[in-house]
Parts: sequence; C-alpha cells; structure tokens
Amino acid sequence: DVPVICIDGPTASGKGTLAAALAARLGWHYLDSGALYRLTGLAARRHGVALDAAHEPRLAELARALPLRFADGRVWLGDEDVSEAIRAEQAGMDASRVSALPAVRAALFELQRGAARLPGLVADGRDMGTVIFPAAPLKVFLTAGVQERAERRHRQLQARGVSVTLESLRADLQERDARDQARATAPLKPAPDALLLDNSALSIEQSVEQVLAWWQA
Ligand code: C5P
Repeated sequence: DVPVICIDGPTASGKGTLAAALAARLGWHYLDSGALYRLTGLAARRHGVALDAAHEPRLAELARALPLRFADGRVWLGDEDVSEAIRAEQAGMDASRVSALPAVRAALFELQRGAARLPGLVADGRDMGTVIFPAAPLKVFLTAGVQERAERRHRQLQARGVSVTLESLRADLQERDARDQARATAPLKPAPDALLLDNSALSIEQSVEQVLAWWQA
C-alpha cells in the first residue's frame, strides 16, 4: 500500500507550500490537485467553453482529456507553457467555478488516484481526505484566519510584481471559500478523522515539523 498524507484546507491557507515542503522532506511525490481544476478552467477558456453548468458535459470531457505535461518544474497544456497562467487570480476563480460541477470532479478522480505511487504521496486540495484518499493514514486540515490568508496572498503577489488590493483579495478568498463549502459534491470540510492545524501563527518550518511529528507518532 502506498502511504498518503492529505493536506486539505481553504484558499491560501498555505497548503501548497506545506505539502511541497513535506514531500521534499520525505522524498515522496506531491499532488497539487488544485492545479488540475485550474488547468481545466484554462482549457475551457482556450476552447471558448463557458464555465457554467449548462456546459458541464463538455467541461468534464476537457478535464478527462487534459493534454498535461509536467517537465523541469514547468506545466504545459498542449504546446502552451501555462506555469504562470494557472497561478493568476483569474485562474483560481475559474477553477473554483468548474470545480463546483460534479461531472468535472468525477472526470479528475482517476488522475488524482493514480498519483499515489511509491514511496508515498503528499496530496493537497479540498477533498483529498474526504473523497480521493479516504483511507489515508494521516489527514491534516489546515486553517488560518481570512485576514492572515489575504495578507499572505497579497505579499506573494506583490513579490511577483502583481498589484491588487488587499480588500479585493479578501473578497475573492471569501467568495471561493463560500462556493467550496456550499457545493453539493465534495464540499470543503475536514474528514472525520482529520487533525486540525491552525497555522496563523506558525512558520512553514514549524508546520512541517508538526505534520512530521504526527506522521512519526
Ligand atoms: O488550491 P487552489 O487554490 O489551487 O485550487 C483552486 C480551486 O480549485 C479552489 O478554489 C477550489 O474551488 C478547487 N479545488 C477543489 N478541489 C480540490 C482542489 C481545488 O474543488 N481538491
């Protein structure tokens, strides 16, 4: 059996940073499931398909057949390098919209399950512990206050030279959280056996150490 550690939580809670650091420490694979929803949203935009329930079958088809390639730390969609494009706030908002569609979630199921390979996998997302890897031995639900999350995202964007107001970021986060929590399929919530970690006052290194301590316990 391939060991899996799930890191779920709301937008900008630091899941990606924590999960990637853990994977590096353990020498395991890393699944950024949010990237798959971001790529689906981007593929839809490239094909001119509206991101709404009326186009659910077509969106699911795009998700099932994503022409994905990960190479040298870059992400490719067909022959386009989309490494930057998928990180844009618009791509996050688009991902949030397509991810509310059950057929899209079903279309990405096998791809995510297939990421579990020896020696192990650290998977980050919203439903890793509840839907994709319910049998995982360690599930962490990461939280941080909305103001803290908006400020972190703001600092990240500023460092990349993107100018956006803290207020609009905060509103975006809240809109995405609300949609993730309200959707009928795989709503954002901790798995019954998840351990909660509020990282508002923790450094990345402290969060990594906490999860490693739980894993080794
Ligand atoms: O984690 P990230 O911000 O990259 O995810 C983008 C969007 O994809 C989230 O706002 C969420 O709506 C959706 N998502 C999801 N299930 C996952 C990962 C992401 O619904 N496992």
